[in-house]
Amino acid sequence: MGIALILSIITVLVRWIFSKRRGAISYDSSDQTALYIRMLDVRVRSQVGFEPERRGSHPYLGVDFRTLHSRAESAGSIPARRIRRLFSFQRHLLSSRLLRGAPHLNTLHILDEDYCGQAKCMLEKVGTWNFDIFLFDRLTNGNSLVFLTFHLLNQYGLIELFQLDMVKVRQFLVLVQEDYHNQNPYHNAVHAADVTQAMHCYLREPKLAQSLTSFDILLGLLAAATHDLDHPGVNQPFLIKTNHYLAALYRNTSVLENHHWRSAVGLLRETELFSHLPAEDSLGIERQLGSLILATDISRQNEYLSRFRTHLDENSLCLGHSSHRHFSLQMALKCADICNPCRPWELSKQWSEKVTEEFFHQGDIEKKHKLEISPLCDSEANTIASVQIGFMTYVVEPLFAEWARFSDTRLSQTMLGHLGLNKASWSAMEPEASGSSEEGESEPTRATEEPSSRALSQGSQES
Ligand SMILES: [Zn+2]
Repeated sequence: MGIALILSIITVLVRWIFSKRRGAISYDSSDQTALYIRMLDVRVRSQVGFEPERRGSHPYLGVDFRTLHSRAESAGSIPARRIRRLFSFQRHLLSSRLLRGAPHLNTLHILDEDYCGQAKCMLEKVGTWNFDIFLFDRLTNGNSLVFLTFHLLNQYGLIELFQLDMVKVRQFLVLVQEDYHNQNPYHNAVHAADVTQAMHCYLREPKLAQSLTSFDILLGLLAAATHDLDHPGVNQPFLIKTNHYLAALYRNTSVLENHHWRSAVGLLRETELFSHLPAEDSLGIERQLGSLILATDISRQNEYLSRFRTHLDENSLCLGHSSHRHFSLQMALKCADICNPCRPWELSKQWSEKVTEEFFHQGDIEKKHKLEISPLCDSEANTIASVQIGFMTYVVEPLFAEWARFSDTRLSQTMLGHLGLNKASWSAMEPEASGSSEEGESEPTRATEEPSSRALSQGSQES
């Protein structure tokens, strides 16, 4: 009933938007439509009785994105959910009091209340490569993305520099975190927190640290935190073959990334985080955020990688130019997004298990609905090891080899070291998968990079 209402209102709204251009905002009509649909989705849900803070995509095929990976949720402990609910309730009380302007409260006090001792201790080492985001997430009761991102924005002095309202920052981050589907085994807020932490490590690398402006850093952190916002837990080919409205809206191109970006813009506007800045500045932030998030589309990996390689071959990357700095930020975010295989084994292994669980779950849905099973998603034809070895060989290694040329540091060597060791560990478990041909490919290939990376792109491990 609620869905029918949403769809009919969306139809009316889309017609209205196409019939009426607004001069004040320079997005083209499809951008604007996406944003409005996004914002409408939020409002209608709250009006028709959806849980107001749970924003997901619409159901199709009888599959509801909000419950798509509900196995994980139902298997999860009730106390954990109860704690989260209590925590939200506490947050609601605190923010309500703040919004009413209760005089005895100040935001720092609230922050102190939220940080538990151990989580605070961990944040002192937030720049280390073996930072255990899973532990941090447990210590913060599932609020790793909010705490970590707030801490970094504060640590870089960005809140003060850009005169950001602390309450709005916090409100924005809470909404961002809640827009991730915690039922997704992989594409959830912990992944976003992990990418943000990795991004922080890269921003501190000398080459970037010496050249990036505070504005670049702000964009880099915001892009990392929002880069998979409202991810449905299935990949783009799945959305296309099930005629999902997002696929039509974005013309089958970077469908998820476009949605993540528009979702982020929706929350920026909803919380008015940058409303104190001139309109052209906040629009500039939104556009650059989009350019960063769109770069995480793994199917465009080769395009970015060859541009990066050419710059490095010609030594033509001049970080004094804002466009080159932006490109280096895009590459940093791409690395952060797929850095799991470069983490220490104990962390890397957990990510591998989670992403494969998400793939196989998609494969199960495809089987159930008699759809073609996507590459890497068939649990009978793939193993965690085979998926990982292919991903490392064709996607991760080429990217990090170039990154190490760009930023030849101890961190880069550490990452390449873990990558090699982790690949060897998976290979030891699956000796037959360590050769050049990968299981799960629909077409038999020899060692040319292209077909395998295409299959992996369709599997879209991270995006
Ligand atoms: Zn991602």
